[in-house]
Amino acid sequence: MNIKITKVTDSRIDELDSSNLQFGKQYSDHMLICDFENGAWQDPTIVPYGNISMSPATTFIHYGQSLFEGIKAYKRKDGQVSIFRPKDNWERFNVSARRMAMAEVPEELFMEGMRQLIELDKEWVPDSEGSSLYIRPFMFGTDAFIGVKPADTFRFMIITSPAGAYYSKPTRIYVQNKYVRAFPGGIGFTKAAGNYGACMLPTLETRKLGYDQILWTDGFTHKNVQEIGTMNVFFVFGNTVVTPDLSEGTILAGVTRDSVIKLLKEKGIAVEERPIGIDEIEENYRNGLLKEAFGAGTAAVIAPISELFYNGDTMMLPPIETWEISNFIKKELADIRYGQIPDTHSWMYKVC
Ligand SMILES: *Cc1c(COP(=O)(O)O)cnc(C)c1O
Repeated sequence: MNIKITKVTDSRIDELDSSNLQFGKQYSDHMLICDFENGAWQDPTIVPYGNISMSPATTFIHYGQSLFEGIKAYKRKDGQVSIFRPKDNWERFNVSARRMAMAEVPEELFMEGMRQLIELDKEWVPDSEGSSLYIRPFMFGTDAFIGVKPADTFRFMIITSPAGAYYSKPTRIYVQNKYVRAFPGGIGFTKAAGNYGACMLPTLETRKLGYDQILWTDGFTHKNVQEIGTMNVFFVFGNTVVTPDLSEGTILAGVTRDSVIKLLKEKGIAVEERPIGIDEIEENYRNGLLKEAFGAGTAAVIAPISELFYNGDTMMLPPIETWEISNFIKKELADIRYGQIPDTHSWMYKVC
């Protein structure tokens, strides 16, 4: 694969205030672009970050053939830059692409394109504690045609943005029993843009009620929990960790979720992937067995839940300081990412 690189003449790195990184506010010097035309991926290019132009009839603007991924690169104390489990994101990208009738992206384009982009912009990977370079691969249908049909042409791009340590204050959760995020047979298991668009209004309404995030429930009974906001959700009942299973296709198979499950099992902690009803959560709460609850995802890593509001009742979680399992996971993941402990799973993909 031949990537044509056009470098910036003046880097914007001096404008970066690494002591005050705000998520998604600044983008690194370069971006990757590759077009799918005439049934084949063309040669990718890496060019200075900037605007793109397109026909107002472009498919994805009207019909939503658009999807993305979220990945992070970390800089170790010795300067080495590595990306956390990017091949899993590549696989998931193509799971999303198949469901959205879009072209699949070859492994080399995704992985080597990303690697070269990050290598070129390695100065943009922050090295302060807890910081990272957020990597956003995405793809959209680009036919200049307003008729309703799957696009024949697509654009794949990668942009990156330095991200500071994500301090997630304990979140107040509202259990949603009006709106639905995902149904069996739908696109809940994909990172399609439309999933996010559909969640904006429910999230806004939830914030107005004074809560931070929604705990989504199934659309048939509003009893079985799915995810919180755009994170996978975990509960600790006694000594057992439980998280909803993926079999219905309503839940995004998070890379963080998978890492949490693997690390806990290796530590000898019982983990169950199965349907979890809100009634079971309430019962465990009443019996004093609801010990911890948290969201898991690339952006926040672990987002502890301080309270759950359901049907007029509030369940208060014990003080975060007493939580052993989520604190263990948080530290273990950070230690692997910053090279403090051996990477026994080969999760870190070296950039340079
Ligand atoms: C991205 C995402 C997650 C988390 O996945 P990670 O791979 O851990 O970042 C969870 N739920 C939804 C709906 C998502 O879009």
